[in-house]
Amino acid sequence: MPALSVESVSKRYGTDTALDAVSVTFPENLVTAVIGPSGCGKSTLLKLCNGLVRPDRGTVRVFGRPLDYRHLAATRRRLGYAVQGNGLFPHLSAGDNITLLARLAGWDEADIAARVQELLQLSHLQPAQLAQYPHELSGGQQQRVGLCRAMMLRPEVLLLDEPFAAIDPITRADIHQQMLQLHAAEPVTTVLVTHDMREALLLADHLVIMGDGRVAGSHDKAALLARHGDAEPEALLHTLLQEASP
Ligand code: ADP
Ligand code: MG
Repeated sequence: MPALSVESVSKRYGTDTALDAVSVTFPENLVTAVIGPSGCGKSTLLKLCNGLVRPDRGTVRVFGRPLDYRHLAATRRRLGYAVQGNGLFPHLSAGDNITLLARLAGWDEADIAARVQELLQLSHLQPAQLAQYPHELSGGQQQRVGLCRAMMLRPEVLLLDEPFAAIDPITRADIHQQMLQLHAAEPVTTVLVTHDMREALLLADHLVIMGDGRVAGSHDKAALLARHGDAEPEALLHTLLQEASP
């Protein structure tokens, strides 16, 4: 049973169709990149998955059950979420940002400290950085804190909306490696929204191509590379979007 799928979901904002009968199943414990041009509905799809947005039609299925909008808090504890520009609380230290949800969930201090230690090691953050406020950290460090916060409760699903988009290329290469290590250490069903095909091919096992509110294709990366391995990433994305258009 997949941890996460959406079935024929549609979402409109006024007359603007953000998603039009989209169906996707996210493979268990793998990284799926959702990739497509700006405005094609990627963020809306991700927000549907954790109930931040409700579909007009269709079903979001999380852990085998239709998402229960009356009890979102319990489900959201099992879904980590991190967004571009980190979304950290500016008035909380990095450490408090990371541990807030665990405190709200009633974890005891020893468990919180142990989990923070694990996350520091996995993310290559320094213990001293926990005392700092987001504005005192670099963009890359903030993004790592955001990832640690999303992973704190050991979620079964990780939803990442362009988490690395605002980071300089050198730091991004560094964080990509850490993301790969993190996923190897704690493989969870991960949805990575990105508009960067190079990033998608580096980090994901599976690629969902989106164009204009629709899924234009769903590809296993190994199969894709077997067919198009020599293509330049952006050209490949273009080809896949073209192939799918009616
Ligand atoms: P992406 O993440 O791929 O850039 P989005 O899911 O953010 O795309 O947006 C898809 C479409 O829905 C866009 O046309 C966008 O303007 C519109 N949209 C998204 N969120 C809202 C909102 N809260 N109110 C009105 N329109 C929205
Ligand atoms: Mg977006």
